[in-house]
Amino acid sequence: MTILNAGMRRPTTPAASAPASQDWKTRSVCRGELADDFYSTIKSRKERARALCVGCPVIVECLNNQRQSDDAIYRWGVGGGLDPEQRRALEVEELLGNVPNLAMARVLVSPRWLWRLRQLKAGCRSLEGMTAALRKDGLFVDEVTVRVAVWWSGGEGSRMSRLAPGDKRTWRAQLRDDYADVVVALHELGARRADIAAYLGIPGTNGAKGVSDVLKAAAASGLELAA
Ligand code: SF4
Repeated sequence: MTILNAGMRRPTTPAASAPASQDWKTRSVCRGELADDFYSTIKSRKERARALCVGCPVIVECLNNQRQSDDAIYRWGVGGGLDPEQRRALEVEELLGNVPNLAMARVLVSPRWLWRLRQLKAGCRSLEGMTAALRKDGLFVDEVTVRVAVWWSGGEGSRMSRLAPGDKRTWRAQLRDDYADVVVALHELGARRADIAAYLGIPGTNGAKGVSDVLKAAAASGLELAA
């Protein structure tokens, strides 16, 4: 797997330059009174919160606000339709210059396109395949925009491809065999282990551990890695 747009990467997250108007908050379906679901660590409750976000008229404004927030805040809770690990993954995408078109992602989860998105999620093994199919449909989208739409529609949106039928490897073996170059490149760009794992779609402690193992193996094979 190659990392697209690495030459365009930004040095930091989108800067909170000029303070944006917060008027959109008055139109949010959660009205700022964040229910327990939004800060729950239980998967089913987080999914319930994300489902509420998808019907929210200000999901784009909310996600933009989350992306411009201070790290300590954006690491917690569901916001803008994404959970914290998905927002970590989005940060890495943006580090690589992959900036989603949120208005287009919204189109993809509208009633007109959602059925097609679901069809492609079931039939394609990768975001790349979904994006190519949508382009054939006449929709000019990029992978990170499709990824956000998949997240908003309740999917995993992993950067690691689904294994081909008959391929019985574990995710650890797939990570080691197919994505070691991506792990090393992101590490060299300064991404943290947990963020690399979130980017690839294997969040949680196991994901970070898997990334560590790949980096250790790369170092053992003589590769000079950044500290
Ligand atoms: S997108 Fe979700 S968190 Fe953001 S305002 Fe709407 S309901 Fe609340």
